[in-house]
Amino acid sequence: MIIVSACLAGIPCRWDGGMKSDERVMRLVREGKALPLCPEQLGGLATPREPAEIRAGRVFSKSGADLTAQFQRGAEIVWETARQYGCSEAILKARSPSCGSGRIYDGSFSATLVDGDGLTARLLKKKGILVRTEDEL
Ligand code: SF4
Repeated sequence: MIIVSACLAGIPCRWDGGMKSDERVMRLVREGKALPLCPEQLGGLATPREPAEIRAGRVFSKSGADLTAQFQRGAEIVWETARQYGCSEAILKARSPSCGSGRIYDGSFSATLVDGDGLTARLLKKKGILVRTEDEL
């Protein structure tokens, strides 16, 4: 079983209430090979919600609310689910403050990318899960 970002699987869970459907990911879910999860929803955040970015290791909404605890909680639930299902692989949404892997926005809400991982991607990698984004399939 592969963990996948729910928004890539066609679930409207993004901050703006939208999705980023990826046919390759949706096919994996239809075939029963992938489990869609949204760490931000699992961490207790509503949809739609304010956009958020990581700055100095913490997660802030655009209006300045510190959402680090919710993002961390969501990451831990995704990891616990991955562990229970024996997952060794994840396909996560690029550039997200939760799911992004390798490159994320810099916290200035100016569409500027920097090296780094979202909180869920970081935790899964630390636990030995192979993390790729849809850009790396
Ligand atoms: Fe998609 Fe991940 Fe953002 Fe949820 S937290 S909307 S799964 S990128």
